[in-house]
Amino acid sequence: MIAYVGIGANLGDARANVLDAIERLRALPGARLLAASSLYRSAPIDSGGDDYVNAVAALDTELAPQALLEALQGIEQAHGRERPYRNAPRTLDLDLLLYGERSIATATLTVPHPRMHERAFVLAPLLEIAPDLAIPGLGPAAGFVPQVAGQFITRTD
Ligand code: AMP
Repeated sequence: MIAYVGIGANLGDARANVLDAIERLRALPGARLLAASSLYRSAPIDSGGDDYVNAVAALDTELAPQALLEALQGIEQAHGRERPYRNAPRTLDLDLLLYGERSIATATLTVPHPRMHERAFVLAPLLEIAPDLAIPGLGPAAGFVPQVAGQFITRTD
């Protein structure tokens, strides 16, 4: 199954944290890293602190969705992420954006990620590596770009 993972960080050395997350995804048992986007810089939405560094990775994985989510949370934990309050600044945040064409709604996992189409920091890196991608139930990801045009984002490398 092809899965897309959103990566964000805005605490500590955010760029190093995102690059390390990509390397950990590359080394993840049961998954093969197909592509990683450039790094982007975006202004925080609904949260404080510094700008975020963002990227999106594509994986070809045998892991079931929940197992993949737990693997992503393991990578977050490796970066010592704490959650003192909702949307607190974070050393590393990994979101399972898409899992093939599956729609999943469990207590712990909603896929497609429910806000991915509203966020330039997801759409820009995602479309860089998968320009023709469709979001199940919503249609082409590129169709949402005009709606996020007001959100600051810039490619950093
Ligand atoms: P966050 O604080 O944004 O990282 O949210 C983490 C929580 O969101 C975890 O408890 C997950 O179980 C839940 N969650 C639901 N859907 C997803 C998803 N598609 N990707 C990552 N976390 C998810």
